[in-house]
Order: sequence, then C-alpha cells, then structure tokens
Amino acid sequence: MSWKQSIITSGEELKKYIPMTEEEQMLFEDITSKHPFCTTKYYLSLIDREDSNDPIKKMQIPSFGEKSEEGVFDTSGESENTKMQGLQHKYKTTALLLATNSCAMYCRHCFRKRLVGLSNQEVLSNFEKAVSYIKDHKEINNILITGGDAFFLPTNIIKFFMETLSKIEHIDFIRFGTRLPVVLPDRIIQDDELLEALEHYSKMKQVYIVTQFNHPRELTNKSVEGIYKLKKAGVIINNQTVLLKGVNDDPNVLAKLMNDLVKYGVNPYYLFQCRPVKGVKHSFQVPLLKGVKIVEEAKKSLSGHSKRFKFIMSHKTGKIEILGEYNKQILFKYHQSPLDSKMGTIFSVKVGEKQGWLEDDFSLEEDLKKIG
Ligand code: SF4
Repeated sequence: MSWKQSIITSGEELKKYIPMTEEEQMLFEDITSKHPFCTTKYYLSLIDREDSNDPIKKMQIPSFGEKSEEGVFDTSGESENTKMQGLQHKYKTTALLLATNSCAMYCRHCFRKRLVGLSNQEVLSNFEKAVSYIKDHKEINNILITGGDAFFLPTNIIKFFMETLSKIEHIDFIRFGTRLPVVLPDRIIQDDELLEALEHYSKMKQVYIVTQFNHPRELTNKSVEGIYKLKKAGVIINNQTVLLKGVNDDPNVLAKLMNDLVKYGVNPYYLFQCRPVKGVKHSFQVPLLKGVKIVEEAKKSLSGHSKRFKFIMSHKTGKIEILGEYNKQILFKYHQSPLDSKMGTIFSVKVGEKQGWLEDDFSLEEDLKKIG
C-alpha cells in the first residue's frame, strides 16, 4: 500500500478501526472542530485494543482532557522570536523555518496545537526572503526545518530546501523535524528519490533528522527499517522524547526507550518537559519533581550512551536543563539562551509538588540568591 493511502482524517474512517459510542463520537467531533484529527493506518495498528489506557492510543486519539482550559498556546515565546512569517531566530546560531502546518499524525500532545492542521498564518510564505535573512546573519550556522512535519512536505520541496541552503557558505548543517519515522515509516522507505537526495546533500552539508519516539513500542520492524535507510543515506538521527503522563512516565518504559534507541543507532538527544499548552497540560504534563525522580530512576539502568540525553524545559527565557533535586529544590541550568550572559547559569527553585513549569517571569536573580 502506498503511504499516501495510510492517512485517516475523519471520525467516520476512524470508527472502522476503533469503535466509538454515539457519545464518544460527539466528543470526537467537538474536540476535532478545534484541534483537527489526523493519523495513519500504520500508527493505529500499534494500538493495543485490549488496553483502554494504551499509550499509543493516548498520543493519537482525542480525549476529554483536551477540553481543559488550563495553559496557554505559545509557551516558548515563538511569536516574540519570529523575524518574518515562518522564520524564528531565538538562539544565535540556529534559524528555524516553520515550513508547514501539516503532519501525518496530529499528536494530541503537540506544543504547536495552535497551528497544526489549522491556520497557516505562521507558516513560511516567502522562502527567498528567509534565505536572504539567513545570508545576512553570518552567525547562523544551522537551519531547523520544521512545522508541522517537515517530511510531510512533497519531496521536491524538501530537495529545494536542501539545494538552496547547502549553497550558503556559513551553514554547517541542516536539520529536519519529523515524526514520520515513528508514525509513517513507509513515507521514507518507499521514496527512493528522497533517500537519494538526502544522501547527495548530506555530503555537502550534514543532514540531521530530529524525530520523536516517545514509547519503546513505536520502535517496530518497519520503523527500524526506516531508520536504517536514513542512516544508509548518511543522515544522523537525533531523538527528542517528550515526557508524557500515561505514556512514558515510568522509569522502566523510559529506560527501555532510551536503550532501544541506541540499539538501533538513534541518539537520545533531549527529553522534553511537556509544555503547559492549552488542551495538553491537563492530560499529559508530569510534575517537575516527579519527572526528576523518574529520570534519575531510569538512568540507574542505562549506560552512558543511553543516558546522554538532557532533560530540558523549552522555556520562554531559553532552554533550561533540569539537573536534579537538591535540598528540596530543583537545580536548573541554562543550556541555551538568547543572552550569552545567561548561558551556563545554574540556579535553584523551590517548586510545588504539582508544579510542572516555571512561571514566565520567574526571577533568575532572586533564585540565584537562594542558591548563593
Ligand atoms: S508531528 Fe510534531 S508538529 Fe506534528 S502534531 Fe506531532 S508534535 Fe506536533
């Protein structure tokens, strides 16, 4: 079957795979009128139908928790770092291109819920203008092409991005953000033209895939076949897991995931604290203190390679590494920041049992005093 026939977007189609009561169907229609539904037959097939709390189901099927009003839509200040439609420049050396608002599967925990499958107002509309911005900013040495799912774009567009960006001298490497190795590996396996292009351009500028495996059951034979094809094309694959309640908030699950990623040659790169996004926070966010305990417990059974990931909060003020618990406080460190002066700064904050995020305006100076 061609990968294009794998996409499912309506409740009517979904009912053939997951039976729904009339009430469930009404809820489905209500939720998806605000946050669209899309998945693949492949990813649906990974659901354990005997388990009503199945983690793979939780990530792809809308549920009541999405109606929660807790949280906000833009938790990382993406609007403030947007230099032109579809181009964000928050950290000195990286430019982010929001190339599409479509994905093969709309993750129910998506932090860009405000735009996936909805408005294209934030999506790149003038690539030439973006290229000229990048050329004018010699400090940018890498581009992250994301969305949405960058590999859900047509192959000729992906090739055009690589062809154009690889000609810019001060660009050292190109990254693509995609969940297709997880939710639709056939998109990669079946497309020789894409694989050949990746191989070609990887020799000019190293191409990285940034993907998102969240559960060990996502690493199927099919998925591993996709991984091997990408690796054969010379692509390096980094994984960004999101810590998700009811999915991987268990040290054994997390440890197995990180270990299996290494087994198949995927680098465990980040573990993200789930952001307090409206329609996501209530169902998916794990409190910080609990998260730290889960991570530390998981690390006990992992080798250095498997635990090299950083536990990160992608905060409005920068990427903050969550280092661990110390004296009933959590220790944090600025891993990335728009301000050089903040980078590397270590601070501690006393967080509540249920607290899952740092306030936008938390005061670094005061928190530093606490640790001092
Ligand atoms: S693939 Fe990425 S952008 Fe698309 S819904 Fe999932 S998390 Fe969001």
